[in-house]
Amino acid sequence: MRIVQKYGGSSLADGERLRAAAQRVSQLARQGVQVIVVVSAQGDTTDELIERARLINPRGAAREMDAYLAAGEQFSASLMAMALGAMGVSAVSLCGWQAGILTDDVYGNARILGLSNDRIMKELENDNVVVVAGFQGISQRGDITTLGRGGSDTTAVALAAFLKADLCQIFTDVDGIYDRDPRIYPDAQRFSEISYEKMLRLIQNGAQVLHDRSVELARAYDLKIEVLSSLTGAPGTIVG
Ligand code: ADP
Ligand code: ASP
Ligand code: MG
Repeated sequence: MRIVQKYGGSSLADGERLRAAAQRVSQLARQGVQVIVVVSAQGDTTDELIERARLINPRGAAREMDAYLAAGEQFSASLMAMALGAMGVSAVSLCGWQAGILTDDVYGNARILGLSNDRIMKELENDNVVVVAGFQGISQRGDITTLGRGGSDTTAVALAAFLKADLCQIFTDVDGIYDRDPRIYPDAQRFSEISYEKMLRLIQNGAQVLHDRSVELARAYDLKIEVLSSLTGAPGTIVG
């Protein structure tokens, strides 16, 4: 059994939440499941990094912005691996280029083209949980790229597709997909299942709960995504 679990920024916002996510991962690993964990930057880190860069240069080169922003996810990945280590679970963190996530060279909105090495598979075969920094890859010319805001979802779906995972779970701060943003509309209705088409329409209408390319990729590979709460872990919404 092979499972990809993605944890978004709010699900890793502080040490307590990060450890709770690691706890969930460790339970799976102890059952002998091969786990690939995709992590976002903690809390509002990406927004804060953008602000800081703007103070230095309001129009910083896109190439440099990507190299800079990718660091947020790298911090999370190493911290997650260390949290797992503290729980007695052997884990290794990989940033995008180490994991072989090959992209085009559209800085700030790069598209994943494929996996260029077998490092993740090798680590899984050595019984390591593999923690991959989301939102980033490497272009053919060898530069760090980022996938666009919310892009860690796409990292998770791409890895689930390329590594033929049995399950792709997106853990977030709501317990599934609703017909409207449940934080704004308390009477929003939750879906237990939603089609790719309907999900893409929700995103087009402004729902930023999933990165659009993650849904397009899942549709192309006929892969189901489960969106669920990192707080409860209760069954969420199946997209697909
Ligand atoms: P993460 O940090 O886990 O990637 P996001 O902030 O990207 O989380 O996505 C989760 C947020 O998406 C929720 O907190 C919610 O406010 C918002 N959201 C917007 N539209 C919807 C919707 N239709 N269903 C569920 N959540 C939605
Ligand atoms: N950290 C990035 C962002 O805030 C990517 C992600 O969270 O998926 O957009
Ligand atoms: Mg997101």
